[in-house]
Amino acid sequence: MIKSYKVRLEPNKQQEKQMFFQAGCARHIYNWTLAFQKERYEKGEKFISAMGMSKYLTAYKKENEWLRDCDSITLVSAYTDACTAFKNFFREVKKGNVKSYPRFKSKNKTTPAFAPNYQAIKISENQVKLPKIGIVKLSRKNYIPIVKKYSNPRVTYDGLHWYISVGVEQEDYKPELNPTVLGVDLGVKDLAIVSDGTVYKNINKTAEMKKLEKKLKRLQRQVSKKYDMNKDGKVYHKTNNIIKLEKQILKLQHRIRDIRNNYRHTMTHQLVEKKPHKIVIEDLNVKGMMKNKHLSDAIGKQGFYEIQRQLQYKTQEYGIELVMADRWYPSSQTCSKCGHTRTGKDRLKLKDRTFTCPECGHTMDRDLNAAINLSQY
Ligand SMILES: [Zn+2]
Repeated sequence: MIKSYKVRLEPNKQQEKQMFFQAGCARHIYNWTLAFQKERYEKGEKFISAMGMSKYLTAYKKENEWLRDCDSITLVSAYTDACTAFKNFFREVKKGNVKSYPRFKSKNKTTPAFAPNYQAIKISENQVKLPKIGIVKLSRKNYIPIVKKYSNPRVTYDGLHWYISVGVEQEDYKPELNPTVLGVDLGVKDLAIVSDGTVYKNINKTAEMKKLEKKLKRLQRQVSKKYDMNKDGKVYHKTNNIIKLEKQILKLQHRIRDIRNNYRHTMTHQLVEKKPHKIVIEDLNVKGMMKNKHLSDAIGKQGFYEIQRQLQYKTQEYGIELVMADRWYPSSQTCSKCGHTRTGKDRLKLKDRTFTCPECGHTMDRDLNAAINLSQY
């Protein structure tokens, strides 16, 4: 099994400059290859496969010496990608689909990215050695396993930070599981209640997150005000001040996103680390719930889809069975002790935080009761 890892890089100014340069070279060679193949195709000449491209690149590099400052494998991957795009194009043409040529990568619309030489990259606990760039610090220590060979390494820029992703061949990790079943009730008040009593609070309600969100709203207001102030008729202008503010906004959005996602990862990791043989969650009707204006914002922030996605691949890795309980299963209306279901007028309302059973008198926190029901699903 190949598992991929992605970590933020912390390059210095010089390294960052080189990264932009290499991403630029990759884009250049990609476009050059497309143009080269297109010209041959239009002249009725044979397609040159990626294997056959190297001599053309060597010739091209002789005329364009600046390309020598780029990791040569980066260029090879760039023309390989372009050849693949062309092959896909041919396949469509053969099928009779009229398709336009593979698109050129424009400077403004493509995210800067390149593939470093996978044989030359070396990763240690907190840094990575990249050819032509040097030793770059990683933002997370001991995250990527240290192995001899990494597959498909990519370096990408998201408008703010650089990241490296690598694939690592891993032996299937199949831990010994215990006979317990965990029910997980996802919600808005708390993020999750687990049938064993563990509670994951809603991180968006912490003072830190509230402060960050407030700051974000303030910056966003400032920017829109500045846009209005500099409006020229119907045309908006970006001033240096606006650019500065927008960068701050992006930074803050990333920080908030990272905090939320780290929290989700911590939760899903802890769940599988309990090594139950089964985990039951509700198959949430997220789309339906998003229609509720009052709830949609809170639900969006919780990231239920992302939690489902993480649980799916993490349980698979551990060999844990993941069950999605039917969306109509009345987990919050059923007594987890005697099985009685409250129906009709007797139903628990959303504001009722405690479940009381009219049959056996069992009383319990509403969400914990639901989580236990899920574990018995
Ligand atoms: Zn009962």
